[in-house]
Formats: sequence, structure tokens, C-alpha cells
Amino acid sequence: MTISTASPTPADFAHVRDWVFDLDNTLYPHHINLFSQIDRNMTAFVADLLQLAPDEARMVQKRYYHEHGTTLAGLMLHHGVDPVDFLAKAHAIDYSWLTPDVDLGEAIKALPGRKFIFTNGTVQHAQDAARALGILDHFDDIFDIVAADYQPKPASQTYDAFAALHRIAAREAVMFEDLPRNLLAPKALGMKTVLLVPQVSDGTVLEQWERVDGSEDQSHIDYVTDDLKGFLRNILSAV
Ligand SMILES: [Mg+2]
Repeated sequence: MTISTASPTPADFAHVRDWVFDLDNTLYPHHINLFSQIDRNMTAFVADLLQLAPDEARMVQKRYYHEHGTTLAGLMLHHGVDPVDFLAKAHAIDYSWLTPDVDLGEAIKALPGRKFIFTNGTVQHAQDAARALGILDHFDDIFDIVAADYQPKPASQTYDAFAALHRIAAREAVMFEDLPRNLLAPKALGMKTVLLVPQVSDGTVLEQWERVDGSEDQSHIDYVTDDLKGFLRNILSAV
């Protein structure tokens, strides 16, 4: 176990030139739960497509998610669904749940090097969410599910495609993610990995994280934090 919930040290991030961020539940906190709106839209899409009751549609939706990485991948494979149509309907949500995060914007802006959003959603969704957070202008590019040819994280070829497109040297890059499995491929490539976990008011970060994922091997995760802004500020004081 190389997990550290302590503050990063200068040497750990001094070499980093590319900063890669997942979007949902990473650049905004888990408790905002924007994804619940997307989740409901996907259930409605499946119910409409397959003429199912909502609870039946939800079972199909979740089965495809677990078997294919995303609900969309299963819908494309088994039902020939048009991904553009699905993604537009899934992301028809209210972004006013997100409000400008000035401190996060300042921290991201101050990071030395390029910054990317790498999401299983769409560019439009990432732009809308990042704009609502007031951080969009600080990113060099967004790599989305379309750029990934609809092969979602954690598929390793998608990380390869992302790294090749932007000529990212993995050993000079770090990835921030809220899903442990999505950090396997970046770690294998040589990137530093930071897991975002939900904030809890009572316990420590590690306790919460162990409750969530205690049964999985976590050796591919270098850091765990429930405070992205604080984590970045610590790095900035180091670079
Ligand atoms: Mg996420």
C-alpha cells in the first residue's frame, strides 16, 4: 500500500507538466449530485426506447453500465442507439446546481503546465459544467466520450488515445478521479494518481474511503483526498 492522505510534498509534483481531471464528482463535489439528473434522464431514455416501466428500464440501464462500462455502450451494442441523440438527452439537465468556485479556478489557473478535462460525458456537458463552476477558461482541452470513440474509461485504449492526441508524457502527468477503477490505466502508464472521495463531516478521509472501497486493491492510487482545492493549494505551495 502506497496510499497517502497526507499533503503532497514538493518532490512529488515538481515534475508534473500535464494535469488531467475527470469532471463529474471530481471538479465539483460528490454531494452536489449533478449525476442524479443525468441518471434519471438515462432511465427515461431506456424506458422510452424499450417500452419498459421505469423500474425495469433502470435494471437494464444498470446492467449495461456494469457489463459495458457505460449505459450508452450497451445501448449501442444491443439496440443500435444513436450516441449523439442519447448523449444530448442524457445531458439535458439543470446546471444551476453548480455555482462558481473561485478558489478552485485560481488553483487550477496557477498550476504550471497544461490542464485537461478527461470525461466519459460529452464536451458540451463538460463545457456547461465547467462554465457554471467558473473554471472553463483554465483548461487547454476536453477529451470526451466522442473523442474516445465511445470506449469509456477505464478502457486502456482510451487513455492511450488521449495521451497520443495531446503528446502527454505519462511520467510528467497526474490524474484526478473519483472512481478507483479509472485510475488503473493511468497508473500503469506511469502517471501519478489522486482519488477524490466524498467529504464527510465526522470521520477522516481514509475511513470514508475504506468504507466505500475497502475490498478492492488500491495499490494503483497514490493519494486520496476529499478536498481538491486544498490538495492543489498544497501542490502550488510546493512548485
Ligand atoms: Mg467522475
